[in-house]
Amino acid sequence: MSVQHVAEGISPFLKELIEDTPKGERIMHCLQCGSCGGSCPNSADMDHTPRKLFAMIMANQRNEVLAANTQWCCVSCYLCTTRCPQEIPITDLMYALKRMAIAEGKSGGTNAPALAKTFTDLVDRYGRSYELGIAGLYHLLNRPVAMAKMGPMGLSMFAKGRMAILPTKIDKIDQLQAIINKARELSK
Ligand code: SF4
Ligand code: SF4
Repeated sequence: MSVQHVAEGISPFLKELIEDTPKGERIMHCLQCGSCGGSCPNSADMDHTPRKLFAMIMANQRNEVLAANTQWCCVSCYLCTTRCPQEIPITDLMYALKRMAIAEGKSGGTNAPALAKTFTDLVDRYGRSYELGIAGLYHLLNRPVAMAKMGPMGLSMFAKGRMAILPTKIDKIDQLQAIINKARELSK
């Protein structure tokens, strides 16, 4: 079934989600079996399980879906995706919902978008994660009061060699940056 075919006669929200997700049209085959929520390590913290979220998407409940914390509780473990009997790209759909929520300034009541932006900014610059930079920048810009409480944990991580003081760039960072810039250009 082509994307164009499934997109005919469906809600604008579902159409947008399908077009923004590789193999997103598979969502149309959801059986509401609940295997995704049953597999998810974070379902207890979610406003709605992936199964329920997909039912809400089908019902065109755009505002409720984008305001939910479900996509922000997703840690991209892909367990649901590997267990879905209908081969629905659940994790990738969660990413698409995150992108839409960020574009509309919705965060599901979490600081996750700010944390994600700090992480991706550092990966853009260094080509890899930099834990001290993530913790420092994120708390400084978003939760300065909480920053003081992070001190003891940071010192402990330094002592155990689990956190580098300075960031290091990967080799040929310019090539990675060219790929990232091209991907951003294509997604506009
Ligand atoms: S496991 Fe797949 S088919 Fe079952 S409810 Fe989740 S998304 Fe739908
Ligand atoms: S990929 Fe996300 S939604 Fe799926 S099981 Fe893992 S945390 Fe849950």
